[in-house]
Amino acid sequence: ATRALAREAESKGVRLVAHAPVIAIDTTGGRVEGVRTDRERVVADVVVDAAGPWADQVAALAGVRVPVAPRRIEIVASESLAPMTRMVWGGNGLYCRQDARGRLHFGAEGPPWDPPARHFMLDVTAPTLQRIGRRMLELVPGLAGVGVTHAWSGIIAPTPDLMPVIDATAGPSGFVIAAAFAGNGFGTAPAVGEIVADLITTGRSTFDVTPLALDRFAGVSAV
Ligand SMILES: Cc1cc2nc3c(=O)[nH]c(=O)nc-3n(C[C@H](O)[C@H](O)[C@H](O)COP(=O)(O)OP(=O)(O)OC[C@H]3O[C@@H](n4cnc5c(N)ncnc54)[C@H](O)[C@@H]3O)c2cc1C
Repeated sequence: ATRALAREAESKGVRLVAHAPVIAIDTTGGRVEGVRTDRERVVADVVVDAAGPWADQVAALAGVRVPVAPRRIEIVASESLAPMTRMVWGGNGLYCRQDARGRLHFGAEGPPWDPPARHFMLDVTAPTLQRIGRRMLELVPGLAGVGVTHAWSGIIAPTPDLMPVIDATAGPSGFVIAAAFAGNGFGTAPAVGEIVADLITTGRSTFDVTPLALDRFAGVSAV
């Protein structure tokens, strides 16, 4: 999906620059002027911090703090089962969905969280997998005896209230934050994209995003 979106954006004239970390955000008189990557300076009236779990590091370049830290979550896949439901369901600290081949994908969202992730990682850990298995059987005892085929992990970005930050007013003018989507960032991306496009072009959204403003975390640290 990411590649398809990238192709579509490029076909509309967007210049994408991959593997070029932003290392500075230029501001003057309380307004952003652009960013510097490790290879070039890009002049811009608006800078969007969509750095996910690393949003705080990028925001700090503009003098803003976002209470989010990279956290690993681990997911387990079962063998194929007869269709149950197309709903995503959860409980007991887990969420679960069934894929098109009938495999259950289930995992722990925390807390307790794995230790903070220092970098992107895909490996899994025995204690967390055991906790996921135990919680799943407590929730659905009928799954005892169902085989597990594989497991993987990834990095998410939980805030203290597990809700994202979408904000165009924090920090210097022209600085927009759209980050910290925890375990729901893929599903919500189309709506968030529309909101951010409105914030960039008009400075406001027809959706009320004030509950997602950064200032709800004044004085609060990352989980
Ligand atoms: C195992 C797992 C299962 C999930 N399942 C679901 C699901 O079923 N449904 C769902 O909706 N969501 C799911 N999610 C969550 C979803 O993947 C995330 O919420 C979503 O990917 C967040 O997107 P994002 O663009 O905000 O951040 P990311 O996808 O994390 O992107 C942030 C980007 O910022 C870049 N970056 C960081 N620092 C800098 C810098 N200094 N300069 C430039 N770029 C920088 C990073 O390289 C990265 O490419 C799952 C996540 C995991 C880990």
